[in-house]
Amino acid sequence: MDRRTFNKTIAGGAMWLTSPSVRAAMAAAPAAAAAEETPAVRPKWPEQVYRRLLVDTHVPDWDPVLLSRFDARDYVDTIANADFQCLMQYAISCAGLCLWPTKIGTVHRGMKGRDYFGEVMNECKRRGLYRVAYFHVVWDNWGYQFRPQWRFRPAEGDEEVMKGRYGYTCINTPARDYYLALVRELVSSYDFEGIFNDMILWPGVCYCEYCTARFRKEQNAEAPRVVDWDDPLWRTFQSCRQRWMREFAEEFTQTVKSVRSITVEHQYGTALSDWRTGVPLEMRDACDFVGGDFYGGAAQFSLVCKTFYSLSPKRPFEFMTSRTWDLTDFVTIKPVEELRIESAIPTVHSAALLFIDAINPDGTINHDVYRVLKMMNDSHAVYEPYLGGELLGDVAIYYDKESMYDPSQNGTPVEQLRGKSDVSKVVHLEGVVGAARILREEHIPFGVITNVTLDQLENYRAVIVPSVLEMTPEQAHHFRNFVQNGGVLYASGPTSLDRFAKPEPRYLLEDLFGVRYRGILGNHVTYFSVMDAELKKTIWPQHEVIQKGPMIHAEALAGAEVLATATLPFADPAGIHAIGSRFAQIISDPPALSPGTNPALVIHTVGKGKVIWSAAGLESSEHAVNAKVLVALLRRAIPTPWRFELDAHPAVEMTLFHQPEQSRLLAGLLNMQSITPPIPVAAKVRVSLPSGRRVSSVALLPDRKPLKFDMAGPYVQFSLEPFEILAMALVQYV
Ligand SMILES: [Zn+2]
Repeated sequence: MDRRTFNKTIAGGAMWLTSPSVRAAMAAAPAAAAAEETPAVRPKWPEQVYRRLLVDTHVPDWDPVLLSRFDARDYVDTIANADFQCLMQYAISCAGLCLWPTKIGTVHRGMKGRDYFGEVMNECKRRGLYRVAYFHVVWDNWGYQFRPQWRFRPAEGDEEVMKGRYGYTCINTPARDYYLALVRELVSSYDFEGIFNDMILWPGVCYCEYCTARFRKEQNAEAPRVVDWDDPLWRTFQSCRQRWMREFAEEFTQTVKSVRSITVEHQYGTALSDWRTGVPLEMRDACDFVGGDFYGGAAQFSLVCKTFYSLSPKRPFEFMTSRTWDLTDFVTIKPVEELRIESAIPTVHSAALLFIDAINPDGTINHDVYRVLKMMNDSHAVYEPYLGGELLGDVAIYYDKESMYDPSQNGTPVEQLRGKSDVSKVVHLEGVVGAARILREEHIPFGVITNVTLDQLENYRAVIVPSVLEMTPEQAHHFRNFVQNGGVLYASGPTSLDRFAKPEPRYLLEDLFGVRYRGILGNHVTYFSVMDAELKKTIWPQHEVIQKGPMIHAEALAGAEVLATATLPFADPAGIHAIGSRFAQIISDPPALSPGTNPALVIHTVGKGKVIWSAAGLESSEHAVNAKVLVALLRRAIPTPWRFELDAHPAVEMTLFHQPEQSRLLAGLLNMQSITPPIPVAAKVRVSLPSGRRVSSVALLPDRKPLKFDMAGPYVQFSLEPFEILAMALVQYV
């Protein structure tokens, strides 16, 4: 689309003229004017900048037309007119080519002597957009092709890499010095407010000569080539990979900050990836705020936002997603309602949203897309003055990045892992995702804490610790103190198991759980046989709850109340074959006729707190009855009042932020119905006020329309008329 068509689009689209800021900007300075058009009141970077954009520019230069029609003025005007506040601009891409006239790297030939990056920086300044440089490491086709000594070398050999589109370098090779020199040159040459460093992760396990030599030098051993989470050498190798990547991130940040004090953000989408990317959560220490891109839909985004909230050194954190279905689809934009739901998820978490678009091969952009993105931006902008504060939750979900592996991979040669990270078999993540879904749909106020933010446990009254494979004595001590002081802890499966303990494996939290670890019980199917009278009502008309997998074999200790026992199937599913017919039902595996005697669900009072132990992850199942058991136990153990209560459809997620300096609470309700258009939903909200305070007003945002309220026990209660996607309300107190 050329410049003429673009102007026509503006003139013809009433939607473009609805925003006062755009009208004012257009009236004040015609597009032809060279003068700077900085708005009078500029938000502060980064704390007030919520609307951000990245236009993917992973374009090589083998054809002269590639990126040759780039028009920086049209590009930035289009973005600014869509009411973005910040542009993250490509300096270098996966192609490994630079979009500025670098003396160190290789310049994209499509620029033909121009300086695209510099032009965009100037245009952004003219339009008052904050500027973040998009930098790139490791995914580097230029480096892979022309600097073979920089290559990432997987166990399966270079051929596997060459079959794909992407060439990778390794940060233990001289590529490290190249990237650091390149970023130093970039930061020294231009004026911008922040930098984002993408793809700072291991594409897999690297066995290049630099990695193997470094491991040999540091550990006096050869880098192991078989996955074995019980082998000390393998565990050391993994921790070296994590440390190496973290050190590189820190060196990168120091290099940037030694030139200028701008914000640095490393790709942090790896926070939820499995062990292979080798990025520990501690990499947040090299970031001013955390950010990363996700494509898994609303439920995933909500969980990511809570995880990022816990981890980000500064807020807002930055949530990124594409305007298309995913990055591999160049054309298919998400339906408008879906975009509205997804893009409101950062809003109800007081976070910044970075939309990802992609540039056309010739360097132009699809202007029509920006009409849609403007609608999204304008729908969020009205809430921005009210965002921020502390996320209030009663229950924390504990996410442990060090447990992001599948123990059944033990014994697998690394060369047979192949392909990308596969988190589908990580039992801990299944538990975290399942728990988040259950709490969200049940409207139980919750947040996420992690192995590096365990100190935030004190902000909650209960914690869910699902199938954690790695726990240190210090972490166990933290959980123990929490319970002693009145906290509620739910733990499932192998959580806190020290499998290296002598003479036999044992739970570090045995004293809390009220059970002693004895091993594994069953295989493909096991059952919870419910003994507790209340839980029997909860699961009625069932008598048992299925677990699709084994359970922990345990023995109850004195003082523990056994709510359910572990029951094996009538016949062992592993031994069933066509000949012999040793089954109880040919299709299913019914439970034994008498319940087992080992504990499967236990509640145990410890100090001022309570502990619920489950022999398997109730939270991981998609069955409603499993969720009901977990919720019933939490509601039994956690005293009221809650931070809030909500009467609404389970598709509605509510968050609550406390802004004590403004004596107010911010409630955000998002209708996350998966089939769009969403059916409008009404809601009744009950919110706890800070101790000793009383409510002065409740107002619906963004217009601050007063809402009627009354007191319902300890809560201030108000109703919301049916809303389609997003409703936010302020509860002011004195
Ligand atoms: Zn390497």
